[in-house]
Amino acid sequence: MRILNAAGRLTIDVDGERGVDVETASRGRFGSDPQAIYESWDEFRDWASGDWSAGDTVDVAGDALGAPAPEPRQVFAIGLNYREHAIEAGLELPQAPMVFTKFPSSVTGPRGVIDLPEGSVDYEVELVAVVGRTAAGVRAEEAWAHLAGITVGQDLSERELQGAGPAPQQFNMGKSFAGFAPIGPALVTPDEFEDPDDIEIRCSLNGVLVQKTRTSDMIFSLPEIVEFLSSVVTLYPGDLIFTGTPSGIGWAREPKLLISPDDDLITAADLVGEMHHTFRRARNHG
Ligand code: ZN
Repeated sequence: MRILNAAGRLTIDVDGERGVDVETASRGRFGSDPQAIYESWDEFRDWASGDWSAGDTVDVAGDALGAPAPEPRQVFAIGLNYREHAIEAGLELPQAPMVFTKFPSSVTGPRGVIDLPEGSVDYEVELVAVVGRTAAGVRAEEAWAHLAGITVGQDLSERELQGAGPAPQQFNMGKSFAGFAPIGPALVTPDEFEDPDDIEIRCSLNGVLVQKTRTSDMIFSLPEIVEFLSSVVTLYPGDLIFTGTPSGIGWAREPKLLISPDDDLITAADLVGEMHHTFRRARNHG
């Protein structure tokens, strides 16, 4: 099943062109809020395995798609989770998942224009998991049962702020500007994949492929990440987990490749589909 946020309403994708509105199809049993559905995800999955064809049909081919989990309580992100990326970043391979946050106000949808702050903004395609069940102390073998599904995201990063002192440096601020955590277009349930731990993700800037990998190349798999995070933090339904970016970031290139106003960034994953973003210089707020 593919879940969409179509103009703010929870929608099941039918064929990429048309979707079915969940609130009308369920006669109000489930509401229209794309974030609230994760609170009753197991119930929703059971219902969605039946007949929902009576719901209102909506167009899902246009640009009115929002984030499939637009208001998560928590957004976790993992750094240095691909060997080649750790090497290009000049950093040692981690012995345990390296965790930071993108503050939830940075989440946005799979289409539109993102403001560029001053500095050096870079792209990072990542597989993103959405939590479907409260998870505390979950072992890796049980991790997928606690995830609603996956989508694709960009861990957009302003590199100068990311690397700025005081020591020890933290990533959170440089990765949390408004719009720096776009996700979508679809939330795809794990059963749709032949192997949900082996998904192709890729992104291109102005038509040039700049990153491409398979998630089977991660140093810490998604189940291992869930085990590690939930050994400390309670994961709530609708929370996001960004799982790390592969090699090919612009900051590590010679010369550096940075995102400029009017650039086109396309971000994609198997079955999830493509996100399309462009950029503009942020206006001064002040
Ligand atoms: Zn990242």
